[in-house]
Amino acid sequence: MKKITIAIDGHSSCGKSTLAKALSKALNYIYVDSGAMYRAVTYYFLEKEIDLDDKKAISKALDKIEIRFKITPHGLRTMLNGVDVEKEIREMRVSEMVSPVATISSVRKELVKQQRKLGKEKGIVMDGRDIGTVVFKDAELKIFLTADPEIRVQRRFDELKAKGLNVDMETVRINLLERDHIDSTRKDSPLRKATDAIVINNTLLTPQQQLEKTLELVNEKIKETAS
Ligand code: C5P
Repeated sequence: MKKITIAIDGHSSCGKSTLAKALSKALNYIYVDSGAMYRAVTYYFLEKEIDLDDKKAISKALDKIEIRFKITPHGLRTMLNGVDVEKEIREMRVSEMVSPVATISSVRKELVKQQRKLGKEKGIVMDGRDIGTVVFKDAELKIFLTADPEIRVQRRFDELKAKGLNVDMETVRINLLERDHIDSTRKDSPLRKATDAIVINNTLLTPQQQLEKTLELVNEKIKETAS
């Protein structure tokens, strides 16, 4: 069957990665969590104490960063220069810095380049904030996911707890709303719904219902592009 590119964008914790993972499994597509790439860069900058105002230091650091994804029995793991950083990149100190780091144009330029490389063969689902508007502007299917903010806070809180991270609900709420604000107001590639994206509000949908709805859209798009 013809393979397409699927772009999923939306605010923090609206279920993008749950949908993207389920789609990649159902369709046998590659899944790329672009947020994990911004988190890995942020983690590296924190570890190396890179000054975010020092353009030269940032550019040097970007040259030294290699991000890959590894499929393991414990799920998809983010590898930074060969080291599994999946747990570290979900920590609060990374969550608190990632949106400021993602406003830096040189960081975005480098990651967009890597993301396009990963998607050049199609058969890919990528989730993020600028996938339908910048990374894969010509994706056959673009989804813009939304969900009520309180549901999103609860989901992020549950997800972090399940990963064994010690957080309180208020810290999660403040971080999520802060990231939404920075992500939608930054100059370079702000979070926007692409004009040709389909909006799915999943506040009242189960993950299975959201998957079924999207699979119908995938089938329609595949038929459209084949005709
Ligand atoms: O998806 P996740 O919440 O892990 O993303 C972390 C952060 O990375 C976002 O809040 C945003 O600042 C940044 N990001 C981005 N563009 C993307 C994906 C993530 O700016 N395509």
